[in-house]
Amino acid sequence: MNENILATIPFNRPHVSQNELGYISEALERGLTSGDGPFTHRASRHLEKLTGGSRALLTTSCTHALEMAAILLGLRPGDEVIMPSFTFVSTANAFVLRGAVPVFADCRPDTLNLDERLVEAEITDRTRAIVAVHYAGVACRMDELGAIAQRHGLALIEDNAHGLGGLHRGRPLGSFGCMATQSFHATKNVQCGEGGALILNDPELVARAEIVREKGTNRNLFFRGQTDKYRWVDIGSSYLPSDVLAAQLTSQLEAFDAIQARRQAVWGAYHRGLADWAGANEVSQPVVPDECAHPAHLYYLLLPDLENRQALIAHLAERGVQATFHYQPLHAAPAGIRYGRPAAGGCPVTERVADRLVRLPLFADMTESDVARVIGAVRTYEVI
Ligand SMILES: *Cc1c(COP(=O)(O)O)cnc(C)c1O
Repeated sequence: MNENILATIPFNRPHVSQNELGYISEALERGLTSGDGPFTHRASRHLEKLTGGSRALLTTSCTHALEMAAILLGLRPGDEVIMPSFTFVSTANAFVLRGAVPVFADCRPDTLNLDERLVEAEITDRTRAIVAVHYAGVACRMDELGAIAQRHGLALIEDNAHGLGGLHRGRPLGSFGCMATQSFHATKNVQCGEGGALILNDPELVARAEIVREKGTNRNLFFRGQTDKYRWVDIGSSYLPSDVLAAQLTSQLEAFDAIQARRQAVWGAYHRGLADWAGANEVSQPVVPDECAHPAHLYYLLLPDLENRQALIAHLAERGVQATFHYQPLHAAPAGIRYGRPAAGGCPVTERVADRLVRLPLFADMTESDVARVIGAVRTYEVI
């Protein structure tokens, strides 16, 4: 068969779950389309079960959930937040908006997560928090990070955008930090186009979080009849999504097991189908420590160098497979240099993996023949 007549396999295609259109119609017909409606409550309760979190607040994005976390920490200008350089810009930007300084530490060469062995050396008297990003939904070393945070009186935040449904020693990701953030962007496992959530594991943060999410007002208390006036009481912004988006999200969350089963099948097929090719070509496959159960958020390969990574992306594009690179190191980005500082030893591992990493298509609606085509196309690449 001529490969050229087959449609390109995109990097991602959002899944449309069974009840999605029905729930959206229901939200529209009910007429309660603003935030905190019935579907917002349904999605939030579902999310609390999946994350083991004590309270989930839906937000307009993970970016906004991170901004809320930065506000709730009460950061002051000059305070420092230790985080990986190998992450999405929002992890850092949210804290920079509060005047805080992101301190960019290197990642572990195996899981590409924040290297917990490098964190303690970066703690100063201005350090207020550590942000753990579970790359590809494989947990950071939470025992060590938790112990460091406790020893130094720091907040531990999880940017769990990749990790919904992931476990560390059997415990859900999102339940470790005092706060955790989720993303429901179209590229994530469960999505509503743009959306997110703030998971609150410290009950003392809940009341203020509700105010910050409601433009700094106590609107929530007012609607519950717990105050007779609805007033401006704190700083905040408009972080509450429409109930129409929450309707879509509710359906997606209800389809979680089905979505995950498909994604795990694709991930497993890649891992098995590329093992001997990777071994013969000095290519590294993802490392998943025994104590981690990951949610198949992404499948990546580490090529020997940048030249090979670019050549593989081009090789796959010629064969109708859309593959892509990932995070560019934040410590070396223009805004990262302006607003942050790198850890003392720099981030050499981050710089190397950012050049070498390629992500393969991974979405719930990939067919078995799509997966076979991707594996076949990768396997015809010979490292130069
Ligand atoms: C996707 C992502 C975000 C941002 O999510 P949005 O919902 O698009 O704001 C933040 N952090 C990480 C690690 C992400 O992957």
